Amino acid sequence: MVWGGKSPQAAVTATNPFEPASRHGLVNGQFQELVETVAHTIPSQLRPALRDITFVNGCHPWSTAVIGECPYGTFDPTGWDIDGSVGHPWANTIWISSEAARSGDLPDVILHEASHAFVRNLLSDCYFLNNDVDSVEELLFLDFAHDTANPAELLADAFTLIFGSRGEDSYTYYLDRHDFEVSQEIMSRIKAAVWLCSK
Ligand SMILES: [Zn+2]
Repeated sequence: MVWGGKSPQAAVTATNPFEPASRHGLVNGQFQELVETVAHTIPSQLRPALRDITFVNGCHPWSTAVIGECPYGTFDPTGWDIDGSVGHPWANTIWISSEAARSGDLPDVILHEASHAFVRNLLSDCYFLNNDVDSVEELLFLDFAHDTANPAELLADAFTLIFGSRGEDSYTYYLDRHDFEVSQEIMSRIKAAVWLCSK
């Protein structure tokens, strides 16, 4: 998730496939085409993560309810609803807010969410050659262990730093907020993980 943005978007399209979510007034759709176009520019190494993912321009129901405003982006593998229940039709979606679409940071926001998908879908059952006990996902989370920050968010930002087109100028909300410096060693480990596990 990328937190940011001020107010929830409220417009609803009549014919979208996410009926329950649209009843909550959260699917926007105004920037749907732009979001999909930018999603197609994701570096080829990370694309396997997006095989079964649908992009939605709007405010994810659960994360919007939890933080009280529309987040820039949410990766939802299981279809969370406001009441915490899962298994809803919007499982395997990445939600991108209109505010993120209007910002100059859209490619980085999409890359951050795609990285969450990559970590979950490709690193959770992948193992480095010298360790068949701890998954690559678990080991990378350890690299980003932190007193107050969520390691998954720091890791997704690190992916953005490595695979984004703007390098050091990437939009990395969590790394900035927690003043977290990603070492060269960790960067190399992430690159190796992507190479090893993106088959
Ligand atoms: Zn995130």
